[in-house]
Amino acid sequence: MNIQTSSEETRSIPFGRPSIGNAERRAVMEVLDSPILTHGPRMEGFERDFAAFTGASHALACSSGMAALHASLVALGAGTGDDILVPAMTHTATVHAVEMVGARPVFVDCRIADGNLTAEALEAALTPQTRGIMLVHYVGIACPMRSIMDFAQKRGLFVVEDCALAPGTLYGGKHVGLWGDAGCFSFYPVKHMTTGEGGMLITKDSALAAKAKAFRGFGVTRTHSERAIPGIYDVTSLGVNYRMSELNAALGIVQTARMPEFLEARARNFHELAAGLQTIEGMHILDSADDGAGNSHYCLVAVLPEDKRLKRNDLLLDLKQKGIGTSVYYPHPIPRLAYYQEKYALNWQDFPNAATISDHALAFPVGPHLQPGDCAYIINHLKQSLHTL
Ligand SMILES: *Cc1c(COP(=O)(O)O)cnc(C)c1O
Repeated sequence: MNIQTSSEETRSIPFGRPSIGNAERRAVMEVLDSPILTHGPRMEGFERDFAAFTGASHALACSSGMAALHASLVALGAGTGDDILVPAMTHTATVHAVEMVGARPVFVDCRIADGNLTAEALEAALTPQTRGIMLVHYVGIACPMRSIMDFAQKRGLFVVEDCALAPGTLYGGKHVGLWGDAGCFSFYPVKHMTTGEGGMLITKDSALAAKAKAFRGFGVTRTHSERAIPGIYDVTSLGVNYRMSELNAALGIVQTARMPEFLEARARNFHELAAGLQTIEGMHILDSADDGAGNSHYCLVAVLPEDKRLKRNDLLLDLKQKGIGTSVYYPHPIPRLAYYQEKYALNWQDFPNAATISDHALAFPVGPHLQPGDCAYIINHLKQSLHTL
């Protein structure tokens, strides 16, 4: 028994927790005390602030990250007959967006260094019907965007970047989401910043922005504030309601302003944890693998040493007993999920790197909710668990 840790109290460290303070509470109460709950100044203000934060010329607040991904593909005109290259290692939403427009996802394995796609892997998966690429910046680590964009431009492919876990991630000094045609963010509670539910689409392309905006609002030609007389509008395309309410947007404005604080805490915790984990023989920490690729540190993903890989779930439960919340990003390569496996007769073993991350890695918390001493506590208990398992 380790005297140092047995005398220490058991801590409670959740994997993720939203950081909501008095400024957020005040901002939401101000909306409730006003007559405008949607179609108001907060959504526009949040869009302006998020555009400034990323350097985008257009930003569209949406009801979720999934909504932003879907709207991007609609605006790009992707549909039946199109193949779209997608990562095997991502959130289901990235690929569902492709299915929602009737296109066919073509799965591509990630590399193990950073969990991301490469231009070489994309090139090898190219089909004659390929029209575009949906990629994900895995847990906040930027994909190698220069080579991917060179490849996409050479082949005339569009690129949508799923930046759900990558607000604050730069590649070559430019924010992710601005390398491709569109970038999509999520403000789900445990992401870097939250609006409860919410998302954002950013783009430098004004035509794409206009199409996505029409789709977001029922396909009407004029938004509420653009109508001098009620009813003076037409509907020229199919659309949905993917708007964000003023309540959510009020949260978004405050949280965007707090992003520098959040990112700094995440970087600090990531580096402290990484320094400890690096002393464990055979532990592989996923991190930026290219010059110029940033990391906004959504979490720290580590592939376990060879001899401990089959104990991953035991380890997760053991850490949970000690109050340490961990997670798995993502628990299955998408080709292993029934809907995709059955529809496209996929073999998930064709995506060995994605399978290794799903089955043999753990994601550790690095969010601003971590207290002083939490990283040391995680490292100590992880070493102990690895030793006893
Ligand atoms: C969370 C997440 C999404 C979905 O975002 P929602 O806001 O929950 O719809 C999409 N892609 C990735 C990579 C995510 O992590």
